[in-house]
Amino acid sequence: MSFTEILGHDHVKAVLARLLSRGRLPGALLLTGPAGVGKKKLALEVARTLVCEEPSSEPSSCRRCGACGRSGKGIHPDVFVIEPSTKTAIKIDQVRDSVRDILSRPFEGRARAFIIDDAHLLTEEASNALLKSLEEPPATSHVLLVTAAPQSLLPTIRSRCQTVRVGALPPALVQGYLEEHAGLSPDDAQLRAALAAGSLGQALAFESDAYRGARDGVLKILETEPGGDVMGRLESAEWMADQEDVTLAVLALRSLVRDVAAVFIAETQGASAEVRLLNADVGERVLRVARGPLGARSVALWDAITDTQEALRGNANKALTMDVLIDAVAGA
Ligand SMILES: [Zn+2]
Repeated sequence: MSFTEILGHDHVKAVLARLLSRGRLPGALLLTGPAGVGKKKLALEVARTLVCEEPSSEPSSCRRCGACGRSGKGIHPDVFVIEPSTKTAIKIDQVRDSVRDILSRPFEGRARAFIIDDAHLLTEEASNALLKSLEEPPATSHVLLVTAAPQSLLPTIRSRCQTVRVGALPPALVQGYLEEHAGLSPDDAQLRAALAAGSLGQALAFESDAYRGARDGVLKILETEPGGDVMGRLESAEWMADQEDVTLAVLALRSLVRDVAAVFIAETQGASAEVRLLNADVGERVLRVARGPLGARSVALWDAITDTQEALRGNANKALTMDVLIDAVAGA
């Protein structure tokens, strides 16, 4: 099996491997699916395979040749990764050079690969510039667009790409990975895998400083919001919407509310067993929130959070979505 370093997605890997081995990889490929499941990793592996100097019968980068060394370090002259320079947009000046590069011959490899990550953030101007190069790319150029929100791409871009859907990972697979590579106990790994809903990226995010930072802000909202006033709610919603990674803030809220619900249920049902908290390091604060007005509403709030996560995946208006969510937190 090629692409072995990427978790899961056996079917997608097989499809990509077949296209590569038959030399039939389309000029424009669109990889869609939830955030954090490995879309960009798959695109990168396709790119590395395209430039590898020792392509074997099993399509995958060999990891040994000079080209693989360079592509692994991100310095191969025929592998291009275009990412939003700001969190909100891929602008025309980022794309202009790429358009010329797409139309050019490979510098040293057999082919050139252009990965455009978070492609839904291409501005209309940038999309239109890119469009020209997607119409008739040279046979040696492959553009791989990666996005969790394909519906936000210009239809003209979408129609020029062949779409490969990359689904959520099975929770058991994520759990196994967390046990093996993050050193988590089976119970912890299972909890996190369940909360991350098939996204390895989200499951791993629980460990990051960014997650802890977002969680601290969210926890303050949970501590102050119930019973707060309209102004406070607006400020909280604004704080959420202004987060660099709103998805991460909502994930933090989801994990905290999960803990609050677990404590509330255990205490109201008089369960003597110790509750296992995802956020054990801030367990005291979670306990206080669970014993406040939020405890009884935590299960209902869970549904509101699920709706929010769906809305964000659909690229809904962030500010409005956060208003609705904070109203649910506040019980307004
Ligand atoms: Zn190689």
